[in-house]
Amino acid sequence: MWDVAIVGSGPAGASCAAFCALAGWRTLVLDRARFPREKVCGDCLNPTCWPVLDRLGVSAEVRAAPNGRLSTVEFIGVDGRAVSAPLPSGERAEIAIRRSLLDHILLRRARSLGAEVREGETLLSVSRGEHWQIATEQSVETARILVAADGRNSTVARLCNLMPRRGRDRVALQTHVPLPRNFGDRVVLQLLPEGYSGQAPVGDGLLNLCLVSRPRDLPAIKCWAERQFAIPTDHVWRTIAPLARAALPASQPGLFLVGDAARVVEPFTGEGIYYALRSGELAAAAICAKDHRRYTAAHRRLYAGRLWVNLLARSAVLHPRLTTNLLRCLPNEKQMLGLLTTKVVRL
Ligand SMILES: Cc1cc2nc3c(=O)[nH]c(=O)nc-3n(C[C@H](O)[C@H](O)[C@H](O)COP(=O)(O)OP(=O)(O)OC[C@H]3O[C@@H](n4cnc5c(N)ncnc54)[C@H](O)[C@@H]3O)c2cc1C
Repeated sequence: MWDVAIVGSGPAGASCAAFCALAGWRTLVLDRARFPREKVCGDCLNPTCWPVLDRLGVSAEVRAAPNGRLSTVEFIGVDGRAVSAPLPSGERAEIAIRRSLLDHILLRRARSLGAEVREGETLLSVSRGEHWQIATEQSVETARILVAADGRNSTVARLCNLMPRRGRDRVALQTHVPLPRNFGDRVVLQLLPEGYSGQAPVGDGLLNLCLVSRPRDLPAIKCWAERQFAIPTDHVWRTIAPLARAALPASQPGLFLVGDAARVVEPFTGEGIYYALRSGELAAAAICAKDHRRYTAAHRRLYAGRLWVNLLARSAVLHPRLTTNLLRCLPNEKQMLGLLTTKVVRL
């Protein structure tokens, strides 16, 4: 009998596992992947992550891993015009770090604090009597508390009939390519007629390249990226959908949803990892306090003050030409983008 079973070991699951194990709870983590693994992400670590990483005791290890330090964010419109805004500097700077490195550091930390981590185990079924029973191909386990940390297509949420019906949505593609010469220490957010692209240097001479578009525009946006970054046409990209979906209830007695499983935000603002780490921490605190409502309230507060910038960004990227034209008309475009950037990366 486990006190807590956590499905998924991305930043949300690993954070929740580490804090639960630290508090002395018998904690099991299952992930279908074997680590280290890459995943579809812009790899940018918002400065708001540092305090959580400090509390997890992994900040030094994250800084020591290969990464790209980002000093500015550059917005490029569909007309090719660029406007840049500064990012925080010093110890709390924004960095880009491959998820194969970041997630592995977090997972190792959870393990070292006493969580049992099983890789290569896919959740297949969930049933609930007095306790939760969760089954993978390899094992059946019983737990008092179940945590869904299995991402935007959460199997736990689906098996518990919480997942809303999927509408038609955009798709994201991601890969790492050789860093173009003179790319510099900037993260680029580029609006394109077909969607948008994010680009960030992640260290080791590599660039993270993300593309987001509607399915019908994928061939065109891929073609743009192949020309721009000299990528062979048979290159294999990682892919994920949906980019948006309704938020789910963060908790109910005995069940907690953390990270993307609970709420998916527009990737443009690069905040998903922060929400994942912090919601994992908040869920662990509520599990320790045996008060699931405390988590639901804290989860609401976590997003309440910040979400508006993300929603604004979503409207902007859904209409790239209109956004470009609007920005061009603004007399104080640079200050406005600088202000919005500060809201996203503030500690
Ligand atoms: C294109 C794009 C770019 C992004 N860029 C950024 C960025 O630059 N910065 C940022 O902060 N955020 C970014 N995000 C968001 C960020 O990637 C997510 O918010 C973050 O990964 C959420 O973490 P998580 O732990 O909730 O889920 P995930 O990281 O998705 O982890 C879920 C884990 O669950 C496991 N799993 C899934 N199903 C099962 C199952 N059935 N059984 C067992 N295990 C399972 C998976 O293997 C995975 O390891 C981006 C997202 C996209 C789509």
